[in-house]
Order: sequence, then C-alpha cells, then structure tokens
Amino acid sequence: MTTVLGCIADDFTGATDLAGLLARSGVPVSLRIGIPDAPPADPAPFEVIALKCRTAPAAQAVAECRAALEWLQRAGAQRFFWKYCSTFDSTPEGNIGPVAEALMADLGASQTIYCPAFPENGRAIFMGHLFVGRMLLAQSPMKDHPLTPMRDSNLMSLLQPQVTRPVGLADRLTVAKGADALRAELADLDKAGVAHVVVDAVSNDDLTVIAKACHHMPLMTGGSAVAMPLPMLYLADGTLAAGQGPASAPAVAPEAVILSGSCSVMTNAQVAAYLETGAPRLRLDPLDLATRGTGPVLHWLMQQDLAAAPLIYATADPASVRDAQEKLGRARAGEIVEQALAACATAARDAGARRIVVAGGETAGAVTQALDVTRLDIGQEIAPGVPWTFCNSQGHHLALALKSGNFGAETFFRDALERL
Ligand code: ADP
Repeated sequence: MTTVLGCIADDFTGATDLAGLLARSGVPVSLRIGIPDAPPADPAPFEVIALKCRTAPAAQAVAECRAALEWLQRAGAQRFFWKYCSTFDSTPEGNIGPVAEALMADLGASQTIYCPAFPENGRAIFMGHLFVGRMLLAQSPMKDHPLTPMRDSNLMSLLQPQVTRPVGLADRLTVAKGADALRAELADLDKAGVAHVVVDAVSNDDLTVIAKACHHMPLMTGGSAVAMPLPMLYLADGTLAAGQGPASAPAVAPEAVILSGSCSVMTNAQVAAYLETGAPRLRLDPLDLATRGTGPVLHWLMQQDLAAAPLIYATADPASVRDAQEKLGRARAGEIVEQALAACATAARDAGARRIVVAGGETAGAVTQALDVTRLDIGQEIAPGVPWTFCNSQGHHLALALKSGNFGAETFFRDALERL
C-alpha cells in the first residue's frame, strides 16, 4: 500500500483525534508516535505522525516537521495535512505559521489554508474570528492557558506575525456559495500573492465544501475536523483505490486493565462510574508512591484476575492534587504517577493483559513509551476522538484505548471494554 495523505500533528492526543476522524470513513489509518527510525514498510493509505512540538522552539518544531514530511514522502504521500489544535494554540513566535511555511517551501506550494474549526466540539470560524461555543476565543478559558494563552480571536492577526508572506481570508459568504466559488476565490488570492488563507467554517457542511475545494492542494492545515471528508473525496476521485476497506480488528484476548492518570472533571466522573460496577480497584497515592515506590502496587496487580478488568487510578479531585503537588512539586508528582501507571502497563502486559485503557494525555504518552509502542493502527471509535488502537508491544498484540482529559461519556471505561 502507498500513502495518499501524510499528516503531521503537533501533539499526541491531537494525532489520535485526527486519526480517529479519518478512520470514521473505514479507511486504514496508522498513527506513528514520533518520526519512525526505519524507512516506511507497509504504510497505510492515511499516515499520521504524532510529534510533541506545539510549544517547542520554532526552529526545532520546523526541523521535526520537515523530517516527518520527508518520511511521509518516502511512504508515497503527495498530499499533506498539518494538524494543530482547534483553539489555534500557539504564540507570536509560532509554531503554526513557521511550520506551514517550511512545509510549503519543501513542497513548492504557493498557498495553503488554515481551518481549525471543529463544529461538533463548538469551534467555529466566522469572518476570520475563532469562537469557542458562543464565546470569542480570547474570552474563553483559553485566555489563561499556562503555555499558549490566546488573547486575540482574529486568526489573521494571530497568524501574520508567525509568517513572512501575506495572510488573507476566504469568508463564510464565499464558503456558502460552494466548492467552485471557494476554489475561484483561493485562485484569485493566490494571484494576489496571498499565501496563507484563513477559511471560515461554522458547520460540518462548510467543512465538506472546504475539503472539496482544497483536497488537491499539496498542503492543507487545520484542526482535525476539516480532514474528516478527505478519505471519501480521495475514494470518489480515484486517488485512493476502492476496496481498501477497514483493516479488520485483530482478535485480542479479553484480559484487561484500566489505568487512569487524568484528573479532569470528566475522568473523575468516569472513575466514579466504573467503581460502581464493583470491579477490582486500587487508588494510587502520589505521596505513598514517593516513599514506598511501585512495589506494593505491582504486587496488588499480580493478585488480580485480569478478566475482571481491574482499575488502577491516581485520578483525584483538585484539592488532593494540590496537596500532592505542594508536598512533592507539580512536575515530580506528575512524573511519579505517570511512571507508576507506565510500570503497571508493562506488568499487566507481561501478566497477560491484552486490552489496556488509559486516561490522560501525558499518562498515555508515558504508557506508550514504556510499552515501546511506535505504531498504532486505528480501530473503531469508542467516543468522538477516542478510537481503539492496535499495536505490537515486544511481540504481543495489544489493543490500547488512549483517552485525553475531558473526552468520553461517564460510562467510558465500560463502553471501551464492551466496544471491542
Ligand atoms: P489530562 O489528559 O486530563 O490532562 P494527563 O495525563 O495529561 O491528563 O495529565 C494529568 C497529570 O496529573 C499527569 O502528569 C498525572 O501523572 C498527574 N496526576 C495524576 N494524579 C495525580 C494526583 N493524584 N496528584 C498529582 N498529580 C496527579
């Protein structure tokens, strides 16, 4: 198989989100954690490379993305997608613009589009302004983000300081006229030298129009949602050979473990709901882990019947988290918990667990690293943005569900186990 669309995502859960949306159409999608060391062997039609470059220095982000582009080109891709957050998380230094400009230069592309809209999740763009629900971006909680505070809602003015060439807008009035009108507008802007075009979208229909108008551009950029129509468009025009149906989910043994390191409001509710099922559970205390290590936790795990899908969780309310952070330091508390859950993952795998559900973006990063997983084949969605994935971990075939913070319904853990 050869790759038809190569995607580069600026963080891990963003990559899973994109991979899950692409896989909704039933086409095979693979997610690579970092740039693979080896040249592509058996690439999927849709390849997503997850980087961790959202807040890296711009030069480093550019270098990593160019290396990812080169790998994807070797996999056969001729079209590319640069995926960033639907709240356009970036600073005046980058990295959305610098990476887009570098990829355009490598691809010889004179123009690209910017469409972070994700209507299903309340992200809409109107007259170049990004909304979060009914609020402008700069009035949303994103204004206080610790790393990328978003204090302006105008995507053109956010983007212009990040790029060297002119920024423009294709607004909703054009998008409403359909794909041909949008294509003509983009061509006019291109003639006028506008290299970076923000495109309005408030609904999934708008995204379909945009994808139709732009799916032959060498590079598209945006949130995950504007990429969702691409597989069907490539199937329709023959870019993707028909019959490349979904890779059938491999059979995995039912033994399972659930590892929760997220402390989000939703994960707290999901843990509470799972506890009500009476499943075996162990709560991790960061202070206890700091003094006694992971020995007692792993000992407990070895006593469990993995067919009952035990839950190990550090998930706690904000007051308990603050308490642990005050005593251990924020970074150390996080790391101790992540390392303990990662150790549980490898121990559970060695004890026969083949289904591992993980809650928490950083936690998922630590777990996949410990399991030595570099490729995930995307299976069916459990909840929007959270698919089951299949991988090889030191010779064992595993199913992994990696859920970030607020994703999934309250019944997520049960849903995940039942869905497979
Ligand atoms: P989310 O996707 O919800 O942001 P993450 O896994 O990315 O979840 O981040 C949660 C962080 O909180 C991790 O670093 C985790 O180790 C840490 N953590 C989890 N439980 C606790 C706790 N009880 N006290 C302090 N830190 C915790």
